[in-house]
Amino acid sequence: MTEAWDSRYHRQMLVEGFGREGQRRLAAARVGLVGCGALGSVIAGHLVRAGVGHLRIIDRDFLEFNNLQRQMLYTEADVTDRLPKAVAAARHLRAANSEVTVEPVVGNVDPFSIVAFAEGRDLLVDGTDNFSTRFLVNDLSVSRGLPWVYGGVIMSSGMTMTFVPGEGPCLRCVFPEIPPPGSTPTCDTVGVLNTAVGVVGSLEANEVLKLIVEPEARNRGLLTIDLRSLVFESVDIARDPDCPACGRRLFPFLEAREEETAVSLCGRDAVQIVPRPGGSVHLDQLRARLEAVGEVRANPYLVEVDVEGKTITVFPDGRAIIKGTDDISVGRVLYSRYVGQ
Ligand SMILES: [Zn+2]
Repeated sequence: MTEAWDSRYHRQMLVEGFGREGQRRLAAARVGLVGCGALGSVIAGHLVRAGVGHLRIIDRDFLEFNNLQRQMLYTEADVTDRLPKAVAAARHLRAANSEVTVEPVVGNVDPFSIVAFAEGRDLLVDGTDNFSTRFLVNDLSVSRGLPWVYGGVIMSSGMTMTFVPGEGPCLRCVFPEIPPPGSTPTCDTVGVLNTAVGVVGSLEANEVLKLIVEPEARNRGLLTIDLRSLVFESVDIARDPDCPACGRRLFPFLEAREEETAVSLCGRDAVQIVPRPGGSVHLDQLRARLEAVGEVRANPYLVEVDVEGKTITVFPDGRAIIKGTDDISVGRVLYSRYVGQ
């Protein structure tokens, strides 16, 4: 341990229950952050400054102007440069702490990618905004015995829970099924305060630190917070012996094997098309082709074209986000017309 190391982490090593041993454990830890928007920004910032050894970040999206109100890692220049969130996050995090290895993955979280993503991770932490990804993470967690920290935030409220397989409930003991589309409010329809994001993101990061440094101190209930009423409540939830995941060991989200997926991105007036795994696109060739049909913007991470009143953004793995429609069939048609199969 160097003098610089002692100096950088001095204030947290002073904290009771943390100490030099806690700092050593943190430096050896390998964490996976799923999603790097609002919550992910806060979680990643805390973990990297605290000195977690290795942080792998997956996010499928690129930056837009309305992200800056609550996605604390990013700047106006990142939006202007149309950077993928994972890439911009890695730049800012490395600038904050060059001792931490930050590994950005620009990609969709699906049953294929999550397995590779979680390889070599000690635990996962939730920075997503949707339940289908969380149910997939839960399937992976229970099937592999990998702990994870769940968190969600909406308006001025939020919740978080920490799951350790074999020790208490899993997410499906709490929420047996994914809420149907449109049945729950989203931050696109009812909004979200950056302060609520900050509190829940900090709680999640704190749980990650505890799982690494002092696991017995972890949160064992479903903690809900409301910043308007300032009510914080923790509800005990028992393990459900009949839970599909941790009881009956069924993992339908992990075992889903669609060849191609198309989803409407809730509240964003956009559709995402993910081609079958293993595909790739040569961005320079695509750019040259698309320049014949519309206005093209490009950087090393994506190519974007305005065409037929929509904006199509294509990533090197062949994935595309089509903005200007929430109709999956329209998205599919535009994808095959301009990107190809
Ligand atoms: Zn369960």
